[in-house]
Amino acid sequence: MLPPVAGFVKLSLCDWPGHVAAVAFLQGCNFRCQWCHNPELVYPKLFPIPLPDDEVERFISSLSPKVYDGVVVSGGEPTIHPTLPNLLLLVKQKGLKVRLDTNGSNPDLLERLIAESLVDEAAMDYKLPLDMYHMVSCGSPDAVRRSMELLAERGNGYLRTTLVPLLHTDEVMSCMREEFQHITGGRLKWVFQEYHQPKKVQPGTL
Ligand code: SF4
Repeated sequence: MLPPVAGFVKLSLCDWPGHVAAVAFLQGCNFRCQWCHNPELVYPKLFPIPLPDDEVERFISSLSPKVYDGVVVSGGEPTIHPTLPNLLLLVKQKGLKVRLDTNGSNPDLLERLIAESLVDEAAMDYKLPLDMYHMVSCGSPDAVRRSMELLAERGNGYLRTTLVPLLHTDEVMSCMREEFQHITGGRLKWVFQEYHQPKKVQPGTL
């Protein structure tokens, strides 16, 4: 059984810099970021019907290592699905690399995926200082901290922050820099992304 894949970008030269990749978008997310660009992957009422497992398997088996370097597995939040390892295994069995996009909320699964060599690179969101995570999630920010520590230890990932106007003030950024140093010892790459206005979600969808 595979996690619910809403769709693929069949060929991308920009989603994983330096790599020719396909991108898989998984449904469902345990966060509710106001600046989210994929509401149709977050709010169940907006979910399209996921692709049948056999279609997903056919697509991945069609990816030639002569053309592709790997697959970016994105969402939504891929790590909410216990069946995620099955999808990553299909990619690895093709001899391709995996880049996993995650919000860092499931360090246990992330650790397992790294230990089983199912993830070559993890791109993890570091959205806000941890004591502000209640703005995007009702879950514990301790999970995000543990994922940051894990990636700093294992060295096969990086953090990324979307700079949201009026939210990432100088004060907030200063707090994040201090926290980043404290948690990772500065051993992790940290990149910044430009904010783009998200799509509007209809009232009642939340
Ligand atoms: S974690 Fe990512 S997919 Fe989930 S709501 Fe936030 S921006 Fe959207």
